[in-house]
Amino acid sequence: TARHSVVIVGGGSAGIATAASMIRRRPGLDIAIVEPSAVHFYQPGWTMVGGGVFTLDQTARPMAEVMPGGVKWIRSGAAGFDPENKTVHLDGGGEVGYDVLVVAVGNRLAWEEITGLEEALGRNGVTSNYRYDLAPYTWRLVQQIKSGRALFTQPPMPIKCAGAPQKAMYLSCSEWEKAGHLGSIEVEFHNAGSVLFGVPDYVPALMETVDRYGIGLNFGSNLVAVDGPAREATFRTESGEVTRRFDMLHVCPPQKGHPLVAASDLADEAGYVDIDQATMRHTRYPDVFALGDCGNTANAKTAAAARKQAPVVAVNVLAALAGREPEAGYDGYGSCPLTVERGKIVLAEFAYGGKVSPTLPKWLINGTKPSRLAWHLKADALPPIYWHGMLKGREWLVNPMPLY
Ligand code: FAD
Repeated sequence: TARHSVVIVGGGSAGIATAASMIRRRPGLDIAIVEPSAVHFYQPGWTMVGGGVFTLDQTARPMAEVMPGGVKWIRSGAAGFDPENKTVHLDGGGEVGYDVLVVAVGNRLAWEEITGLEEALGRNGVTSNYRYDLAPYTWRLVQQIKSGRALFTQPPMPIKCAGAPQKAMYLSCSEWEKAGHLGSIEVEFHNAGSVLFGVPDYVPALMETVDRYGIGLNFGSNLVAVDGPAREATFRTESGEVTRRFDMLHVCPPQKGHPLVAASDLADEAGYVDIDQATMRHTRYPDVFALGDCGNTANAKTAAAARKQAPVVAVNVLAALAGREPEAGYDGYGSCPLTVERGKIVLAEFAYGGKVSPTLPKWLINGTKPSRLAWHLKADALPPIYWHGMLKGREWLVNPMPLY
């Protein structure tokens, strides 16, 4: 069995950032990344593709390009975790051993939980920015539709980027407003939850946006079935099932713990890796860490959170390799740039407990109000910061905050 000091499973935002951070701290460290995909995706860009702001190719790069130098890329899927024997099983029957394991496999989009959805997607006005290939269809629909009814859905929490279902809706409305069609389009938001956004400080600005676009809000309304050809969506509500006809339907799929995690000893009851909220270390296996969307920390599941978690995990993995206790802690930071119109963003930044946690001073960006500068941050600054800062482990650039 091949063996490495550190094995990272998953080469997404969290896995690559962590590897890069560790290599910067300890050049020459023996790290392997288990990752089957030939492409690395910048998912936060998909909202902007759906809004006609980014092209698709701005949101993807060959995996080989983002693999940090000196890291061994095991181009295979992981098939199982055996933490007792410090081994990861690979697709096709191989295995790889580790001194320390970092799990970063992301979560799972459960499209199949909505009856008829998988067949309906990509046709008949049914779309989702949660899929790379469908985000451009969102933009095509927005341009085509001049009247009728547009539905936007949000499933039960937890989901990655909890603001993304709203972002899709506001960017669409902004476009229709500009084109003069908004008055002829009935827009409805169907949210399985009971609030517009989990952190109350940001709700007033979002409510103003909802009023401005004349959006019909439906809380406790959970999409359960889609009939593409009939253009009908069915929602479960407290008062029974409700079916709505649509011309456009933007779906955010229900989300689950990754099946690989859920089937392993690493999982909590919900199927997420059971880790300490501060150190990111497994609660039962001290040589296992996790970060990103697969972990059960109570932060917003965002790339922004992974950006802050990666150096914490890097420091604590190096400590574990040296036989020391964790030395760094994560405060629960996550961020959600809510695109309330094309050109303006409500920049939600918050830590554990919904504590508002802005990076920049208030006079530059007041996160609770729509901001032009925040739009430029998202549209112009964050993509290069992601590719050249976060994925390269340049923490002085992206993470000037002290650990612990
Ligand atoms: P991912 O980036 O999903 O990576 C998981 C990796 O694991 C993938 O490379 C996958 O191939 C790999 N993998 C899967 N199964 C296996 C296996 N069996 N073996 C080995 N590898 C495996 N975040 C923000 O910060 N701001 C935003 O504005 C924002 N907007 C978003 C909008 C949309 C539409 C979406 C979908 C997401 C958005 N996010 C945003 C969330 C952000 O993209 C995720 O939180 C982030 O990608 C999490 O990183 P991760 O590494 O945990 O998971």
